[in-house]
Amino acid sequence: MTYYMNISVIGTGYVGLVTAACLSEIGNEILCIDIDHEKIKKLKNGHIPIYEPGLEEIVKRNIKSGRLKFSTQVKDLSFGDVAFIAVGTPPKESGRPDLSAVYQVAKSIGEHISRQTIIVDKSTVPVGTAREVETIIRAQTKKRRKNIQFSVVSNPEFLKEGSAVMDFMKPDRIVLGIKESWAKQKMKELYAAFVKNGHPIIVMNRESAEMAKYASNAMLACKISFMNQIANLCEIVGADVESVRHAMSLDQRIGEHFLYAGAGYGGSCFPKDVQALSSLAKDIQYPTPLLDAIEEVNIKQKLVLFQKIQKFFKNIEGRRFAIWGLSFKPNTDDTREAPSITIIDKILNSGGIVSAYDPKAMTEIKKIFGKKIQYGKEMYQICKGADALILITEWPEFREPDFNKIKKLLKNPVIFDGRNIYNPSLLKKKGFLYFGVGR
Ligand code: NAD
Repeated sequence: MTYYMNISVIGTGYVGLVTAACLSEIGNEILCIDIDHEKIKKLKNGHIPIYEPGLEEIVKRNIKSGRLKFSTQVKDLSFGDVAFIAVGTPPKESGRPDLSAVYQVAKSIGEHISRQTIIVDKSTVPVGTAREVETIIRAQTKKRRKNIQFSVVSNPEFLKEGSAVMDFMKPDRIVLGIKESWAKQKMKELYAAFVKNGHPIIVMNRESAEMAKYASNAMLACKISFMNQIANLCEIVGADVESVRHAMSLDQRIGEHFLYAGAGYGGSCFPKDVQALSSLAKDIQYPTPLLDAIEEVNIKQKLVLFQKIQKFFKNIEGRRFAIWGLSFKPNTDDTREAPSITIIDKILNSGGIVSAYDPKAMTEIKKIFGKKIQYGKEMYQICKGADALILITEWPEFREPDFNKIKKLLKNPVIFDGRNIYNPSLLKKKGFLYFGVGR
């Protein structure tokens, strides 16, 4: 059984906005709070500040129905049976996550809650954060001499940008780290509508829930770095990583997912979360060489495509490169830690010229490179007169391009395929020089 609830979501980014939209879609009343006035202004007018398939329709529909509202006023969070914390936890110079926004929100919650509330931490945070959030809230309620019952729950989010709405609506699992049993029942009611597919809600202590998120992301990043190392080895010994991957994936113990070699992983999660877990281990003097290697391999992998370009052209100065795909993965406009940034930086620093195109991430990449690079309106336009085409992000529209057209447009028929999406022998037949990763 599901019960209608009043909910506030603090932090309206990729996670917060999806959480709010999906919870309103099933009938709850949601108030989104964010300190970014520009973002809230846009949202109030029905403009979605990020690209995420399916999100815009849900947000618009629920704004219209009056179930989804927005505010910049932290004091408004007295609204609600449940308050989600979904603010960012970006990495600090040291690799440790910056928890200042989480703690700031915890303080505000302590200053403003007025009735029994469940505080749900959805931000990705180190083990012990829920305990700290509880301490901060308690200190504030004590100051106000209010004896308000509250419970801090750890509920890490596992959605993937690009399929975030689907992932939230039909999650593989919902993880709840809970201390107080009264909160357990309410949280199960809140999520009941999302597990009609039979997937489980699993309850554990808060420390385990916090660790489960970091361990999951570290494992996924580990698979990518592992395959990238195998790919680089394949190149040296004359193997093709695509065949190797296929052979490996048929072993049920290994499975087929996340075994793709490429230009390295990016995004706001894997790099940050691997570093955070490894920092957490360092803080308790437990050596984790495997975790350290994941990130080390990835940093090097982001350079592999550029090294191939440099090796082929020798001198990059004055040469122009057409780049397809700038977001860190397809179906998102998120460019945080994207390999495209490393590659563009390297080309520019070597005196090269970049013309770039992405179906959704042009605005984001312009914020980073401004007038330093050229921007195309569509994928073929930037190929005209370019010395080579570089594929970095495998958006669907790049998968089956018109190679005859590309060949006519490019100055040299050279393709660097950072995601191994093209068929090397077909391209060879068409007269291209093809460079993939690990083949
Ligand atoms: P984001 O940067 O897109 O959004 C964070 C939002 O929080 C911003 O809108 C910011 O203005 C707001 N904010 C910051 N401080 C605030 C404060 N004091 N009060 C109110 N609002 C404040 O971040 P995101 O990608 O949504 O990630 C949020 C958290 O979820 C992170 O911990 C992240 O690791 C985790 N996470 C992200 C993803 C993902 O795919 N993006 C997936 C799972 C988990």
